[in-house]
Amino acid sequence: MGARVNIIWLQWAMRLAAAAGVCALLWATAGSSVALGVLAAMLLFMLLHHVRHQARLFRWLADPRPEALPVSSGLWEDVFAALYHLLRRQRRSESLLTATLHDFRQAGMALPDGLIIVDGGDRIEWCNSKAERHFGLDPQRDAGQLVTYFVRQPQFAAALAVDGYAEPLTLRSTHGGDLILSVLIIPYEADRKLIISRDVTDRERVETMRRDFVANVSHELRTPLTVIGGFLETLADMETPNIGLIRRSVPLMRDQAKRMQGLVEDLLVLSRLESAGNPVSEEPVNVPDIVRALHHDALALSAGRHKLELSLDSTAWVNGAEDELRSAFGNLVSNAIRYTPAGGEVRLSWRGADDGGAVFAVRDTGIGIAPEHVPRLTERFYRVDRGRSRETGGTGLGLAIVKHVVNRHAARLVVSSEPGKGSCFSVVFPAGRITAGEAVGVTPVTARTA
Ligand code: ADP
Repeated sequence: MGARVNIIWLQWAMRLAAAAGVCALLWATAGSSVALGVLAAMLLFMLLHHVRHQARLFRWLADPRPEALPVSSGLWEDVFAALYHLLRRQRRSESLLTATLHDFRQAGMALPDGLIIVDGGDRIEWCNSKAERHFGLDPQRDAGQLVTYFVRQPQFAAALAVDGYAEPLTLRSTHGGDLILSVLIIPYEADRKLIISRDVTDRERVETMRRDFVANVSHELRTPLTVIGGFLETLADMETPNIGLIRRSVPLMRDQAKRMQGLVEDLLVLSRLESAGNPVSEEPVNVPDIVRALHHDALALSAGRHKLELSLDSTAWVNGAEDELRSAFGNLVSNAIRYTPAGGEVRLSWRGADDGGAVFAVRDTGIGIAPEHVPRLTERFYRVDRGRSRETGGTGLGLAIVKHVVNRHAARLVVSSEPGKGSCFSVVFPAGRITAGEAVGVTPVTARTA
């Protein structure tokens, strides 16, 4: 650049020296007035040349496209060439910046977390699509709006006002369903902030379930332990053994111990079913045999108090785990007997469905269930009538086990019930689960036992 400037000075010096030389020559030969006139003409020509190029430069600056750069010669050609290179360099760095910004935004969009950038006045500059979903934002419409307009919780505004890192907040958002978000505010540059939001709905739900579960199990164990503990203390305090009290208390303690044993067994079954590393086995299961055996067990359980019917209209087998299916079906049968007063009827059936699937159903004429309870029956420890469930040895986990087994076999649990009239619990297997098994020679049966 310095060399170029020197050349310009040199060129001008040479031109002026040439003009002065011509002028001196004319002064000596043609007189002073001619010499000065020629000098004035030369200077005017130079001035016009510059004014013309200056005008072209201003015209071009109004719309400075490299391709529209005026063509020139001499000194102005150098000026325009320098401008051309400057402009090209600027365009190149502009497109590099645009590409970098685009890449950054694409990366921001791909983040699994929500990202909002706010300026010093807490106004939204940019957000990614996850943040749009978390807070119901529209990046075009809401850019420049106060972020607190969209996240209205006071603790968020308080955290935003903190200078420096704030602890992550747990907020409830009503956008895109009932979401629970963990929100972190990170200051950067002088006064801008990054707001990162993460959907922790599932984590919170699992945490709540875990807390409820521990509370429920403790509650379930407390009563039998209190009973047993009470009796044991009384017995321990006795100077001489009271045979009458021992005779009365031992069966009660045994019942309570049984209750705890049932609860622990059901908990173990549930935990086995829930463990991810325990896929369901795919053995052909002879369902008609299981249903027959359950009908037999039901006779013992009912002890003649109910009319028990068995209807085997299908010889189909199911691909799955025999012990799980036996346990799930057994829970449904035991419930039907426990929630049907003496004199009622319980019917077990296994039949084919129109779509090629098959249905195991237990229908009873028992106490029935009000519609508002039906959707919650398969929750752990959910009971319509706590007292009745306990009296009959229920753990409140039976239908939770059934639901797990049903899900593991890609089947559906269908419940229909009417209070005072009875209930029907059906396990509907899809056609894909049905296998012909070794049904040869099996004929449909209908058994009835009063
Ligand atoms: P429980 O051990 O209490 O029977 P379950 O999970 O098997 O637990 O059932 C949950 C609740 O569903 C029961 O407490 C009862 O209120 C209701 N229930 C289940 N089966 C029947 C039925 N056949 N008739 C009426 N109520 C039922």
